[in-house]
Amino acid sequence: MSKVIYFRDQLKRPLRDLRISVTDRCNFRCTYCMPREIFGPDHVFLPRSSLLTFDEIFRFAKVAVSSGIEKIRLTGGEPLLRKDIEHLIAKLATLRTPAGNKIDLTLTTNGTLLGKKAAALKEAGLTRVTVSLDALNQDIFAQMSDSRVSVETVLDSINQAGEAGLKPVKVNMVVRKGINDHQILPMARHFRGSGHILRFIEYMDVGDTNGWNMQEVVTGKEIIDIISTEFPLKSREAEHHGQVAKSWEYKDGAGEIGVITSVSQPFCGDCTRLRLSPEGKMFLCLFASKGFDIRAMLRSGASDQEIQSRLASVWGARTDQYSEQRGANMPTDGPKIEMSYIGG
Ligand code: SAM
Ligand code: SF4
Ligand code: SF4
Repeated sequence: MSKVIYFRDQLKRPLRDLRISVTDRCNFRCTYCMPREIFGPDHVFLPRSSLLTFDEIFRFAKVAVSSGIEKIRLTGGEPLLRKDIEHLIAKLATLRTPAGNKIDLTLTTNGTLLGKKAAALKEAGLTRVTVSLDALNQDIFAQMSDSRVSVETVLDSINQAGEAGLKPVKVNMVVRKGINDHQILPMARHFRGSGHILRFIEYMDVGDTNGWNMQEVVTGKEIIDIISTEFPLKSREAEHHGQVAKSWEYKDGAGEIGVITSVSQPFCGDCTRLRLSPEGKMFLCLFASKGFDIRAMLRSGASDQEIQSRLASVWGARTDQYSEQRGANMPTDGPKIEMSYIGG
């Protein structure tokens, strides 16, 4: 077995996860991500010609996997809007780490198109799926997603994903105080015992358009306290380095939940994630303003080794730890990237 030498950044963090955003478009207008006032009919999305092709994404991913990446997550925008996404998945599923292992290949989706596609995605080689759902109550769901899609559609997608074998399905719920926090317990009740893993996400100040305000954050601790009033919980140890969610399990054996505390208890020290934007820029942090172009190299005949050297130098210079420094009035070099562009 060959030994993998992980690239290390300035804080000694290895490069292990790659998140690939395949589109900046979405069929929802979640108020915390793509507020309609800003992402309205006049908003200009990336033109098709600027998007990386599936071959270009695969080429970059192949180099990244040979450099220590073990897990790839496809995201967006809404990744299932990208035509024939299963063709990309089928290509990525052929990748092997230097030790000869399959990669963990996952996707985050809002669940509107997943029901129809779950079996094809599994067939193509997707390992698991994460589905976002912020409420069971239809009115609150409509308010959070600013869409006319029914909660039933998303619930049906979650079940179809489970039946197709994309398990365990993780369900992401972003919590905003005063808007959907009363849905924490109904969501916990619904998903306990289902085999799906519900994960509560603290509302983050990602991007520059959602008007984020600390008063709207419900902390992970508050969320755990709310659930514990009805269902006693016990904490589980983090399963592996770089895991973003803190895991808890129901004491009565009805399964586990996760809490992503990026605001109240940041985890930059364990951040092993590189992000690739739809038009081929590498970003080193969810809160970055500046990316590092790789598309020009992909389109101008650069060798795999040249691409790998570029990746090594970009990752090697990394110092990002935005969440640890939040509030410290860090200097910025422009507007932060939007979540709908780079993905969660
Ligand atoms: N459209 C897909 C979806 O919603 O699942 C994938 C992309 S979306 C940007 C990825 C994740 O980011 C979703 O689970 C979403 O809820 C989360 N997200 C978006 N904006 C957020 C914010 N301001 N704070 C916390 N999570 C956010
Ligand atoms: Fe779309 Fe996902 Fe953003 Fe909602 S969170 S607007 S579904 S990209
Ligand atoms: Fe990683 Fe940046 Fe998030 Fe910290 S703030 S965990 S460095 S993406």
